Amino acid sequence: MSGFEPARSTMVRTQLAQRGIRDTRVLGAFRTVPREAFVPEELMDRAFDDGPLPLIEGQTISQPYVVAVTAEALQLRGPERVLEVGTGSGYAAAILGTLAREVFSVERLPALASSARARLARLGFANVQVRCGDGTLGWPEHAPYDAIAVAAGGPKLPPALLGQLAVGGRLVMPLGPEGAPQTLVRITRERAGGLRSEPLMPVRFVPLIGEGGGLPETAP
Ligand code: SAH
Repeated sequence: MSGFEPARSTMVRTQLAQRGIRDTRVLGAFRTVPREAFVPEELMDRAFDDGPLPLIEGQTISQPYVVAVTAEALQLRGPERVLEVGTGSGYAAAILGTLAREVFSVERLPALASSARARLARLGFANVQVRCGDGTLGWPEHAPYDAIAVAAGGPKLPPALLGQLAVGGRLVMPLGPEGAPQTLVRITRERAGGLRSEPLMPVRFVPLIGEGGGLPETAP
């Protein structure tokens, strides 16, 4: 996978740094994780486009900037245990795995879960685990999580995820009514108890589909 470093550096400079991403660890992760290895092969020449790209079954690999805003908002310093809901290609999981100690990522579509798992293993992301299942229920065996990234949008926060967020932990999720524009929101479980909610940016994610607070299984 050599030869893509200049494209990654340009992406980091023009799409991330110039738009205000400041965390040098985050910028470094986007320089080293090979995005070109996470996009479908026939779209490799568009790997560094400033937008999402299609995966299978109507799902998408998120825009690099949106992944960067999420990663920066999670305030990862290295020792954290992170939960991701919506593995998709595994790209965001690889970014999070570069920034934190362990990542547990849940994907509901079996084909995506198994290809992401194989890809992450092949690329050497040994601290990222992928499970096929309903991520609105979280991954209770490894809770609590210092950070949770939800990569699919819904009208409300699944209660199980909040229950698996550590004290002091941060959760980032696209929230909004079905079919409407969403807002990427950071929720912090404060040490004094209570939750703080901060809007980060307007976004448009694929729907979160599941029992624990997403859309029901029959949704498109
Ligand atoms: N982070 C991904 C982008 C994921 S797109 C990347 O970097 O490529 C959102 C993903 O969430 C889709 O793959 C979709 O299948 C998945 N998803 C939707 N609802 C889910 C649920 N309840 N549990 C787990 N995954 C879910």
